[in-house]
Amino acid sequence: MPIKNRLAELLPEIAAWRQDIHAHPELGTEEHRTAALVADKLAAFGCDEIVPGVGGTGVVGVIRGKANTSGRVIGLRGDMDALPILEASGVDYPSRNEGVMHACGHDGHTAMLLGAAKYLAETRNFDGTVVLLFQPAEEVALGAKGMIDDGVMDRFGVDEVYGIHNMPGLPVGQFAIRPGPLLAATDEFFITVGGKGGHAAEPHTSIDPTVIASHIVIALQTIISRNADPIVQGVVSVTSVDTSSHAFNVIPQSVKLRGTVRTHSADLQDLIEQRLSDVATGIAASFGGQAQVEYLRHVPITINTDENTAFAEGIARSIAGDCSEASLIMGGEDFAFMLQERPGAFIFLGNGDSASLHHPEYNFNDETIPAGCSWFAELVERRMPAA
Ligand SMILES: [Zn+2]
Ligand SMILES: [Zn+2]
Repeated sequence: MPIKNRLAELLPEIAAWRQDIHAHPELGTEEHRTAALVADKLAAFGCDEIVPGVGGTGVVGVIRGKANTSGRVIGLRGDMDALPILEASGVDYPSRNEGVMHACGHDGHTAMLLGAAKYLAETRNFDGTVVLLFQPAEEVALGAKGMIDDGVMDRFGVDEVYGIHNMPGLPVGQFAIRPGPLLAATDEFFITVGGKGGHAAEPHTSIDPTVIASHIVIALQTIISRNADPIVQGVVSVTSVDTSSHAFNVIPQSVKLRGTVRTHSADLQDLIEQRLSDVATGIAASFGGQAQVEYLRHVPITINTDENTAFAEGIARSIAGDCSEASLIMGGEDFAFMLQERPGAFIFLGNGDSASLHHPEYNFNDETIPAGCSWFAELVERRMPAA
């Protein structure tokens, strides 16, 4: 039976798994129920190996094809975690874990990978091995790295990796992809501005860190507008200014700034990190204060490998009839760590006219499940064709 027809038959079952996962969301590193559900399903499908507890709550499933003369191993990744958001989607299977919500569609990613696993374990119409990577903690950027640090790529001999993210605004069942950089590096910075506290009525006896921090916030805007090549996209956002002062008449001793930097270019990332430090320390010194800068690189740039992307795009075209060129996205995705380890591709799949990702009214669109499952399954059958 063609993949398309079989997956159409399985749709109600896969949608039911998705809605069950949706109703029981779990935060990153705490996906115990979800991981158990995944492992139970993989066992019921007859997967050859099921390994829980990889990189924390990650689950790996192995399906061997009817032949293994190619010796090839394809890794397919689905993320399982939810977000600390109070759900307002209005669905009739809402979160039963108040304040936690599948607002990024990882319930759908997990269900689609399970659907593909059921089909692939049933048919095994490929020459090689599929390694299913059910990953925890994407939103907190710990899951992919955790599984890699746990040796998942070498333990299971993974040659290449593929993943899907749903995309609100793209029509249901439509795909979008691009080779090279796709999602941004996600960095965080802290700037501690030190001055000299005192009575607000006697500012001349103080060094006011609030005034210094304000100048720094304004000056940081010039990194993108004056230092960065205007052709190259980047973001510098200060998202928190904390004086820790609760009095109207006290000049605080120090002020903490916090924010994020997003880039698709390693050169720009290096430039911003350097300028951020130079601007903050230089401005603070000019006012007689000091600035200490801490810069954390959380998630690298998600970079699709050219050859794998072309192949993945071809599969998408064969399923949807078309595949659009994805726009660069300033959000980050920890699948980037897997793409640093192995060649592969990350593709977007339309979620239709829904609320945006991370919005309390967002919901994964079950109508997109057949396209996502088909993409995983066809990719395997055509990348490792059985004789
Ligand atoms: Zn997300
Ligand atoms: Zn996500």
